[in-house]
Amino acid sequence: MRLQSKPSERPPRTSARDWQVLCESLQASVEDSECRYRQLIEGLPAATYTCDAEGRVTLFNEAAVELWGRTPELGKDLWCGSWRIYRVNGTPLPLDQCPMAIALREGRTVTGEEIVIERPDGTRRNVLPHPQPIRDLSGRVVGGFNMLVDITERKCDEAKLFATQEDHSRRMADAIEAARDRKALHESEERFARFMQHFPGLAWIKDSSGRYVFANEAAQKAFQKAAEELYGKTDNELFAAKTAIQFTANDQQALSSDAGIQTIETLEHDDGVVHYSLVNKFPIPGVEGQAALIGGMAIDVTDRKRAEESLRESEERFRRMADHAPVMIWVTEADGHCSFLGKTWYDFTGRTPEESLGFDWIEAMHPNDRAAARETFLAANERQEEFRHEYRLLSKDGSYHWMIDAAAPRLGDDGTFLGYIGSVIDISNRKKMEEVLRESQAALLEADRRKDEFLALLAHELRNPLAPIRTGLELLRLAGDDRSVIEEVRLTMDRQSQQMVRLIDDLLDVSRITRGTVELRTGRVELAWIMESAVETARPVIEEMGHKMTVRLPNRPVVLEADPTRLAQVISNLLNNAAKYMKRGGSIDLNAEQHGGSVVISVKDRGIGIPAEMIDRIFDMFIQVDGSLDRSHGGLGIGLTLVKRLVEMHGGTVEARSDGPDRGSEFIVRLPVVLGLLKETNNLDGQKIAATSKRRILVVDDNENAAQMLGMLLKALGNDVRMVFDGLSAIKLAAEFRPDVVLLDIGMPQIDGYETARLIRQEPWGSTLVLAALTGWGQEDDKRRTREAGFDHHFVKPVEPAVLQKFLADCKAATS
Ligand code: ADP
Repeated sequence: MRLQSKPSERPPRTSARDWQVLCESLQASVEDSECRYRQLIEGLPAATYTCDAEGRVTLFNEAAVELWGRTPELGKDLWCGSWRIYRVNGTPLPLDQCPMAIALREGRTVTGEEIVIERPDGTRRNVLPHPQPIRDLSGRVVGGFNMLVDITERKCDEAKLFATQEDHSRRMADAIEAARDRKALHESEERFARFMQHFPGLAWIKDSSGRYVFANEAAQKAFQKAAEELYGKTDNELFAAKTAIQFTANDQQALSSDAGIQTIETLEHDDGVVHYSLVNKFPIPGVEGQAALIGGMAIDVTDRKRAEESLRESEERFRRMADHAPVMIWVTEADGHCSFLGKTWYDFTGRTPEESLGFDWIEAMHPNDRAAARETFLAANERQEEFRHEYRLLSKDGSYHWMIDAAAPRLGDDGTFLGYIGSVIDISNRKKMEEVLRESQAALLEADRRKDEFLALLAHELRNPLAPIRTGLELLRLAGDDRSVIEEVRLTMDRQSQQMVRLIDDLLDVSRITRGTVELRTGRVELAWIMESAVETARPVIEEMGHKMTVRLPNRPVVLEADPTRLAQVISNLLNNAAKYMKRGGSIDLNAEQHGGSVVISVKDRGIGIPAEMIDRIFDMFIQVDGSLDRSHGGLGIGLTLVKRLVEMHGGTVEARSDGPDRGSEFIVRLPVVLGLLKETNNLDGQKIAATSKRRILVVDDNENAAQMLGMLLKALGNDVRMVFDGLSAIKLAAEFRPDVVLLDIGMPQIDGYETARLIRQEPWGSTLVLAALTGWGQEDDKRRTREAGFDHHFVKPVEPAVLQKFLADCKAATS
């Protein structure tokens, strides 16, 4: 409020009295005015006060006391001295920022700024101040007037009103929201149903008692029930007991777990096919205290299940096959690590899967083969190509076996490289066979070489005796009647032909023995006879070489179960060699001693000896220490082979000993003896060969020379002999001549010896005569054929005169 004074008119000239009266009247009027002013202020309904220019309170009304909460001391308290003032936002308001301070300082009315006054009792009031300056007549600010409107209550009411309005609008909003929610729920349910109908998997919901409340189309199809059949029914009412039990048990389990369960359920369709589903079952919490529902979602995994089963089956089949295969099957993955090894591998190596899978299988290889095997495998794996390699693998018995490992890439359906499948085969036997083959090939080559040498040797050896025979023939032609020359030539030719016969006999023997066709004619025989016979045979060569020979036999008779001729051949062969491989005038010891069940026969010389490296080989066929053709000893390198084979056929052994070249040799033969008395022997002792036989003999041979020579010999022995050179002539002549004995060649033109014999036997005069075959063939089969043709005897050409003589004597004995 601004106190304004009304401009006064010019005063009239007055007296002292007048002045006094005037002053008193003025005084009264001022007091009156002040009184009215005071009454005005006090009568104001709002808190009002005045202050001087420094802000000290000069006047206030009751409303102000009520607002401030105490009565200020006039002229002392500042208008703001006893309470605290804040802005509406609660921050303290500095004194110089107070509206009254601003009004006093700036001399203007300040309105509209709400402040908060804190009373001494701590209560706060919201106030709207209206301070304005009081000026004196000169316009100077001499104080201030302020009316404070307490708006605390009004603010409270406003707040209440506001709260009420807010509550109302919230309810409105809630109602709108609820309506919106109901609509949204409805839409959401519709969306859910549509969504679920089109979901390719099975989806269904059951209430807490297990009744279907929802099932999408896929579920209806899978359950083979329409919605109206399903809804409101339980599994027990819908499915077979086995299925229902399974479904219900899973529902119970799902209900008892917040997260639900995942399982495989089976359902047999009407066609009997069992379908598999991968099922998620879960509880759906009930709304507003209702019981929980059971949700189910599933996908049909029948195909996958079948594929898995068939994969498992095929893997099982593969595993069984791999485990029982005779080879070791293995499988690697694309990065090269081994993921499978067949049982055969573990059985062979004795290793465990931990020691074999991955890359550990390499440890089972021979250390020298590991690097190459690893390299081969990794290189192939890199190129994804087939490969095959060989290495040695350690078996559980500690031996290494050669293996061949072959592998082919495994490819996925899209052709991706998945690794390898391979097999390991034990080829150690094959390797050994290869080794044996290599050796036997070398042996064959060696035998072939020796055979070539032998043929050259044979030609040489046959030619050797032929040369003196031919020269002898020429000499005979020139000798005329000179009996001494004839006798010498005869002796030479006899020796040389004997040599040839021996060679050929040996050859035939070797061939027979090699083919296993030699038959021993065994019987009880005394060792002495065998030794004598051998000595007799070898004596000519020994004597010719001027050697001395000592023979020592056991004091008591030693009896063998043996073929005497063959054993005599053995000993005479050894004696012959002793004589051959020693300088003239050497000495030979022939000893025989009995040691328990064996007799040990030794032939010892002081000749050229045998090098140590040849000792074991000289019994092999065609082996000769001095292989050169210009040797002086002769022979074909088969004599010792014969010796060894014949001794072995008698259950004995033979060995050679020598201290080396020029230290002599010793051959030791061990034979089993018969312990007991000699009952019957094949001794020829005492059998005197008749000097003459005096038989009528027909000689038949297409080789006229041979026939003539034999005929002459038989004649010389005192027989009546005829000679013809073919079969038909033989039959014709025999019919007249009536021979006692016919010596008949086999290989003849027109009709051969067999046919001739058969025809002779058919004649009445031919049944009793003695028919003897003369042939170059001496095999068992040849003998059988001659026997079948009607022959009584079989001689292999050339026949020894002594043998012939004995034969004729026997014939005589038989016929006389
Ligand atoms: P051949 O005497 O016909 O050569 P053998 O089979 O009888 O054949 O003998 C084989 C080889 O053994 C002879 O060539 C000879 O080198 C050696 N040999 C045999 N007997 C003796 C021996 N008593 N002294 C030295 N070497 C011998």
